[in-house]
Amino acid sequence: MLEISDLDAYYGDAQALSGVTMTVHSGETVAVIGPNGAGKSTLVNAVASLHVKRSGRVTVDGTDLLGVPAHRVCEHGVAVVPEGRRVFAKMSVHDNLCLGAYRRTARAEHKAGLSRVFDIFPRLRQRTTQLAGTLSGGEQQMLAIGRALMARPTVLLLDEPSLGLAPVMTDEVFEAIEAVNAQGVSVLLVEQDVDRALDVAVRSYLLSEGRVAREGTSADLRGSDDVRRSVLGL
Ligand code: ATP
Repeated sequence: MLEISDLDAYYGDAQALSGVTMTVHSGETVAVIGPNGAGKSTLVNAVASLHVKRSGRVTVDGTDLLGVPAHRVCEHGVAVVPEGRRVFAKMSVHDNLCLGAYRRTARAEHKAGLSRVFDIFPRLRQRTTQLAGTLSGGEQQMLAIGRALMARPTVLLLDEPSLGLAPVMTDEVFEAIEAVNAQGVSVLLVEQDVDRALDVAVRSYLLSEGRVAREGTSADLRGSDDVRRSVLGL
């Protein structure tokens, strides 16, 4: 279980998150929606110890993550799929995936990891020797998710998986997120496509100006005026 309480985050003196409190229970998919600049990516970075000063409390299964450097976060079962995918363009699909098996326990069983990833993303199985930079945007997103899964995470942090993808590819990526969750991985999904995010998540949080403006079941948020005003601009 991922528990975030009273989390503040700063870039220099500028505060990007204020008092954010959220929970992702074991096996849940939780979405974080919000307008541009609300702090969604900052939230992912703050949980993963990337690029941001933080205070407050972030725990995964009771272990405090705030003292853990970024390269050790995966040892605690947290894997990140960053915004913009960040695959290694000049390396093959296979080698990108193997890099994800950085965690000690994952390294030992990387063959089983590859076959689990290929079950979720059959497109990647057909392209193991292809250079990642030559994949389509949707395939690169699948590779980024696959690479994160190679670490055998208990919690997956996904930052804007639909960004720049054609609708048909977005459908495939979201089906994969459901398949990942069905394997028991908890998912914290940061996403601008509100409808898709609320479809896939049981509970959701609305972030606005670095604060949680609203939380509830995705059905509640879908109908809420706050969401319509703040994210959809209606
Ligand atoms: P978007 O959907 O547009 O990516 P977001 O909700 O993910 O937005 P963040 O990228 O987390 O929002 O940004 C939150 C605030 O922090 C914004 O005001 C942004 O300008 C600021 N910010 C983000 N990254 C940095 C940085 N590296 N240095 C300074 N300020 C930053």
